[in-house]
Amino acid sequence: MPYVQEVYEKIKRKNPNEPEFLQAVKEVFDSLQPVFDKHPEYRSCNILERITEPERQLMFRVPWVDDQGNIRVNRGYRIEFSSAIGPYKGGLRFHASVNLSIIKFLGFEQIFKNSLTMLSMGGGKGGSDFNPKGKSDAEVMRFCQSFMTELQRHIGADTDVPAGDIGVGGREIGFMFGQYKRLRNEFTGVLTGKGLNWGGSPGRKEATGYGAVYFAQEMLKDRKQSFDGKTVVVSGSGNVSIYSIEKVHQLGGRVVALSDSNGFVYDPEGINLDTVKNIKEVRRGRIKEYCEIHKHAKYSDKNRDIWTVKCDVAIPSATQNEINGEEAKTLVKNGCICVSEGANMPTTPEGVEVFLKAGVSYGPGKAANAGGVAVSGLEMSQNSMRLSWTFEEVDQKLHNIMRNIYNTCRDVADKYGKPNNLVVGANIGGFQKVVDAMMSQGIV
Ligand code: NDP
Repeated sequence: MPYVQEVYEKIKRKNPNEPEFLQAVKEVFDSLQPVFDKHPEYRSCNILERITEPERQLMFRVPWVDDQGNIRVNRGYRIEFSSAIGPYKGGLRFHASVNLSIIKFLGFEQIFKNSLTMLSMGGGKGGSDFNPKGKSDAEVMRFCQSFMTELQRHIGADTDVPAGDIGVGGREIGFMFGQYKRLRNEFTGVLTGKGLNWGGSPGRKEATGYGAVYFAQEMLKDRKQSFDGKTVVVSGSGNVSIYSIEKVHQLGGRVVALSDSNGFVYDPEGINLDTVKNIKEVRRGRIKEYCEIHKHAKYSDKNRDIWTVKCDVAIPSATQNEINGEEAKTLVKNGCICVSEGANMPTTPEGVEVFLKAGVSYGPGKAANAGGVAVSGLEMSQNSMRLSWTFEEVDQKLHNIMRNIYNTCRDVADKYGKPNNLVVGANIGGFQKVVDAMMSQGIV
């Protein structure tokens, strides 16, 4: 049995109830055999067994009181996966579906994503099964304060720097930062995604979405094409989706559909982003409301049918496993030539296979959505220098980073004899730097 397969079987036995984590590990391992053929020394150091075991896994009780006076209890997580190339870095997800497997898959992906940015950041991820939907601001604040009361003893500006993810945006980061500061009596860059007047970076809110579009722009360029005149579908309607749409429109493309967990909206004239921002960012409403304002747009309560909408480019930006093999086939049949993943692992392994076989330019999440953590890294730099860059400076740096990530993925894929396979490019490109650091630092 090839070495990587042998180790995967071991990891499967060790983590039997973690399907998302195993899916993420398998996806990386499937790319790695050629690296081990070239570097037998990695094998003798048991690198794969070590890199798949988190350095630290924290699970904790988060008690809080709702507006009716009931005591509620959620579970908090922080997986400090790898500090080989920098402090643990990765977002916090608040969503009812959160469990250990999901946080571990996200933390594992984060190691390689952060490495691809070329900034000094290790990999981590955290969150809770708390569902912020329908909660008042006061309830969200009490939950965030309780969550941070425990988390604060494990994190720090040079140790572990969390950020946002699903269900954690500017409001939640603010409540958690306030509690951290109060408990530790220090104003440091312990979280990223902060408000602009208290240590945040211009361009952080936009970074993941803009970055996914910059990545797609590079893929299109290699096909001698651009966004100009392209029809685009973006799933989700949260932070990543909104700023993907904004950048696509700036580059001359037209986004015609977006979704949430209840359904999707189709607007053949092009999604009106001001309306979406008002519904989602101001009122925290549902995208169904879009059709009350734009009567010609259509709403369907089958959110996965968004992939039946004809498009040239798809930017899945909601959640894991939102495109399966059949949905990928539908996209290809309808003429989709480029997929840039704003979300983490939104395409199932069967779906990825379909895209690669069909010659679709396919940008896997760990490369295509690295813009968010890249600008988080830039926020950390600004905090350390106690300086602030302009939006234009940060956007320029983000653009360069996304171009470099694309070039790394493409060049590594070429080097390992898999031209145009950006999955192989991203996995090997991200892996190499982390492993070399592990080899230099001894058995730790
Ligand atoms: P938000 O919470 O802002 O938005 C999430 C969006 O996805 C919402 O529209 C939500 O709909 C939808 N969604 C969530 N879960 C599901 C589900 N199970 N089925 C269908 N739709 C769902 O999160 P973000 O925009 O920040 O994150 C989106 C994705 O991007 C995630 O995969 C995240 O890990 C990834 N990502 C985010 C980064 C960031 O900087 N924020 C960085 C890199 C990756 P509803 O409101 O109905 O739940």
